[in-house]
Amino acid sequence: MSLKKIGEFGFIDKISRGCLVRPANIVKAIGDDAAAFTTDAGQLALITTDLLVERVHFLREAVSGLDLGHKCLAVNLSDIAAMGGEAREAFVSIAIPADCPLEYLEALYDGMKQLAAEFAVNILGGDTTDSKVDLIINVAVYGTVAENELLGRDGAQPGDIIFSTGPLGDSRAGLHLILNEIKADSAQLKSLYQAHVRPAPQLHEGRFLACQPGVHAAIDTSDGLSSDLGHIAGQSRVGATLQAENLPISKALQSFCRRFDFDPIQFALAGGEDYTLLCTAAPQHAAALEKNFKNRFKRPLSRIGQINATGRLEIVYPDGQVKPITPSGWDHFKALADEDHDGN
Ligand code: ADP
Ligand code: MG
Repeated sequence: MSLKKIGEFGFIDKISRGCLVRPANIVKAIGDDAAAFTTDAGQLALITTDLLVERVHFLREAVSGLDLGHKCLAVNLSDIAAMGGEAREAFVSIAIPADCPLEYLEALYDGMKQLAAEFAVNILGGDTTDSKVDLIINVAVYGTVAENELLGRDGAQPGDIIFSTGPLGDSRAGLHLILNEIKADSAQLKSLYQAHVRPAPQLHEGRFLACQPGVHAAIDTSDGLSSDLGHIAGQSRVGATLQAENLPISKALQSFCRRFDFDPIQFALAGGEDYTLLCTAAPQHAAALEKNFKNRFKRPLSRIGQINATGRLEIVYPDGQVKPITPSGWDHFKALADEDHDGN
């Protein structure tokens, strides 16, 4: 069956099945002029939206519909996670070019629905139109958080310990495999590929951090540690020092970097799209936070550095060398990106 045959309304009807997974507070789901749902008293509303454009954010020929659907929703859920919130409702708008098969779109929605169901998020509406050339997808997510649990980028204080809830740099390595058409022929390469195409939004981790004493600030790692820590430092008007030897670099990334001759520290610093959470916490609460995180999630909360009052971002290497971190100083990665586009 083709999109042309079923038309816009046939399409909406088809994809709307399985979109409502948590009907309790929903008055109107897909099908009316607007969605309607009840909200909880005393909760802040969180709204986030992300636009994904073919050839800018993804290559349709290189990503399955299922993976693309997962990622479109995951990046939004990650933003809600970084605020300490619970994700509740999603809205999906899509501009579809004539050469995009209905099967691809159905897979795209399956990818979104699987992830949405995992976190009890309803897909409550959207918009559908045609597009001249590129597939364009916009997802918006509504979430909630109690006012006193909201995590922002602006709360970091000198002395705070900086943590990451997961490994850094894996996603960038996965992108390198895709752009250079390198087959993920081992379990380690597969895990890097997965990190790029199927990032896990850390909503449970975000809620956990929001409820722990002493957590002052958080952000999700979408642009890369150097930039994202730069956002916290800038908005909190503080500086930060990272310890290179403490950056959470997976075994898979280590062996990837040995094989392809890259520096894993650069991948961790400038990679981006890992969608872990970075947070800062008062030093007197740091040990308990690590212990509680480990108990709850069965993996470490990585202590990667400390906030200070200098206003500068620096990284200390094991041999004692101190280097400035420049959030815009992506030189190494610029070189990598050029190389990637050359297909070398
Ligand atoms: P209107 O013309 O009043 O904006 P539409 O025909 O665009 O209504 O949409 C009808 C219903 O289908 C609405 O509930 C809308 O939110 C939903 N909808 C439209 N496109 C999508 C989509 N791509 N994904 C999810 N829901 C959609
Ligand atoms: Mg209408």
